[in-house]
Amino acid sequence: QAKQDGRNCFGYFSPDMNNNMLARITLEQSLRSAVLQHEFCLHYQPIVDTSSGEGVALEALLRWRHPQRGLVPPDEFIPIAEETGLIEPIGEWVIQQALRDLRQCHSQGIMINMAINVSGRQLAHGDPSHFACMLNGLLQKYDVAPQYVHIEITESILMADTELSLKALTAIRHLGVEIYLDDFGTGYSSLSYLKQFPISVIKIDKSFVDNMLEDRADANLIKAIITMGQSLDMRLVAEGVESEPQRSFLQGLGCDFVQGYLVAKPMPLKELEPLLRRIVREKPTSLL
Ligand code: C2E
Ligand code: MG
Ligand code: MG
Ligand code: MG
Repeated sequence: QAKQDGRNCFGYFSPDMNNNMLARITLEQSLRSAVLQHEFCLHYQPIVDTSSGEGVALEALLRWRHPQRGLVPPDEFIPIAEETGLIEPIGEWVIQQALRDLRQCHSQGIMINMAINVSGRQLAHGDPSHFACMLNGLLQKYDVAPQYVHIEITESILMADTELSLKALTAIRHLGVEIYLDDFGTGYSSLSYLKQFPISVIKIDKSFVDNMLEDRADANLIKAIITMGQSLDMRLVAEGVESEPQRSFLQGLGCDFVQGYLVAKPMPLKELEPLLRRIVREKPTSLL
């Protein structure tokens, strides 16, 4: 559709639009070379128990160390990586690196879980069990027990192709890997629609947390999400928690876990280790 429009209006492209396209093509080219040059790295952010502060999981967050631009955040390149299919090699690298780092944590007695973001294109690649097979191979390669690994997906994945995503998620769940629903509340799916998917944990989007102390509507939405999540037997994580009043409000509502700058910003594993030694138990903890 876009291509067709582009062809029809080619003569009317504004210089701005040309610049935009040029910027995209440049980005795509440098993203391709980034894959070959290994310019990616992972930062990690802890997810903690809302009441006790105990660290239960790390979320792996992708960064691109661009030779000229420095550290590029994922929102600036993941959409292009998805469009071009580059998300598949990049996403596989993310899983490998996260599992390698998780193995290292476990070897040091830091028995934490690892949450890994996965895009729809990764799940939709090949037949519905393709992703689960790949993941299973990597779990064995890095000697990580599946119950420590959690996959984060967004609502849009479920809405785009219900049948395929149900099959793909079921195959993942059969490995013993848990599934989180990320950024909940930003899409249009109802919790009753979600009931059919093997989801264990709902992450409430930061945009609701941001205003919940000032905005009654957002506070009520969060309350409703928590109540309905609990009735579906799912655990809840609030993301983007930046202040102590936010944490204690969420605790009052029965939100199980929080993640955000209040606890720690995403950072390289090395820098996070001293904190992890303080907040993570030596015995494994489950989110469930
Ligand atoms: P997300 O999965 O919802 O990750 C949470 C984002 O919120 C992260 O942004 C994190 O740095 C930010 N955040 C966490 N706590 C706070 C807070 O207290 N305040 C503020 N202002 N921000 C906070 P980041 O790292 O820029 O990642 C953005 C998005 O990129 C992620 O959103 C995720 O959807 C996507 N992403 C990241 N890594 C990967 C990956 O490996 N694969 C895929 N497919 N997507 C990824
Ligand atoms: Mg996430
Ligand atoms: Mg999120
Ligand atoms: Mg988010």
